[in-house]
Amino acid sequence: MKILVINCGSSSLKYQLIDMTDESVIAKGLCERIGIDGQVTCKTADGRKHAYDVDLPTHTEAFYEVKKSLIEGACKVIDSLDEIAAVGHRVVQGGALFHESCLVTDEVISGIESLIELAPLHNMAHLQGIHGCTEVFGKDFPQVVVFDNAFHSTMPPKAYMFALPYKYYEEHKVRKYGFHGTSHRYVSNRLSEILGESLEGKKVIVCHLGNGSSLTAIQDGKVIDTSMGLTPLDGFIMGSRCGAVDPSAITYIQDLEKLTTGQMDALLNKKSGLLGISGVSSDFRDVLKAKHDGNERAALAIDMFFYQITKVLGSYVAAMNGVDYICFTAGIGENSSLTRSEVCKNLTYLGVEIDEEANSTIAEEIKISTENSKVGVYVIPTNEELMIARDTMALISK
Ligand code: ADP
Repeated sequence: MKILVINCGSSSLKYQLIDMTDESVIAKGLCERIGIDGQVTCKTADGRKHAYDVDLPTHTEAFYEVKKSLIEGACKVIDSLDEIAAVGHRVVQGGALFHESCLVTDEVISGIESLIELAPLHNMAHLQGIHGCTEVFGKDFPQVVVFDNAFHSTMPPKAYMFALPYKYYEEHKVRKYGFHGTSHRYVSNRLSEILGESLEGKKVIVCHLGNGSSLTAIQDGKVIDTSMGLTPLDGFIMGSRCGAVDPSAITYIQDLEKLTTGQMDALLNKKSGLLGISGVSSDFRDVLKAKHDGNERAALAIDMFFYQITKVLGSYVAAMNGVDYICFTAGIGENSSLTRSEVCKNLTYLGVEIDEEANSTIAEEIKISTENSKVGVYVIPTNEELMIARDTMALISK
């Protein structure tokens, strides 16, 4: 069985065709600059590549290109669309409405529409993707939606509420929802597989450290807290996002610079974080290199990154009254042994002991704590697309 996984952004569409018999990626690609001009790139597992420019006014045209690239031309991998059993879409914001993945129906579409105000750019793009897919693949083609925050829906109110006037929660759904849920779920499921037992009775912290980063506290296999909030801006310092700051700093800067809400939003999301502090880049590797070249602001940005992760992690140890397992994932979590050692340095009080030789292994699934360590520390490469494909297959097989 083959599943097509789709991730629509406001001006992009990423796809992966996954063969579920061995969960391998057969082909993947990217349609970019939708609504601007249009570029398509596709790659196959056997090494073929094709890139071309084509007009992509909307996501519907992008879907026509996905279809074309799969069944004809340089990157052809299947004879017809009949070979694809279903499409699984990533959806960023499921609000408090969707607690799990589901088949796309008119009711589900209305539900995603009702959440547009919470994630205008993302949910609009996902809906365009679903509509484009229906038009190109046909109305009877099964489609599944997998929500970024569904895994976090088990958080209790004391974790997800903001101490703002209650009416904003009641009338406008303002609360913490969390993101990267599909990644946190994949990693915690994988941990359970590695351990060969369920996570019942276990306390786990998953550190997803990439351009966007979040930590999640998982008790008995269920999320009890996560660092991102109403939007992916909350938490700790990221590539270009500020993470948690005193909210008064925001109103103060906005007044000082006479910024519109949109400009302030861009400042917090695109000009802050590692980029804002270092002035060098939002990319961890660039900032680390600048630090090694003697750039003091880059050194500060890196110090802040390690310190803030350690603080959030410590708060989750307190929230769960302990931790049994810590998992690192995503671009930085999988590749930076330095980050893992620095974050674990202040966890000796918990009996965390890192095996630095194992920790120097890069981008592999590996246990990096010693046999004596009281907490098991793992690197588990994430795979959100596979999780989406698995959910899609499970739902259409029901
Ligand atoms: P996204 O949130 O965009 O999915 P990724 O999970 O791909 O991001 O992570 C991107 C981050 O991972 C970048 O900051 C990049 O510098 C960092 N990264 C990638 N490879 C390495 C590496 N070998 N060492 C350190 N950091 C790395």
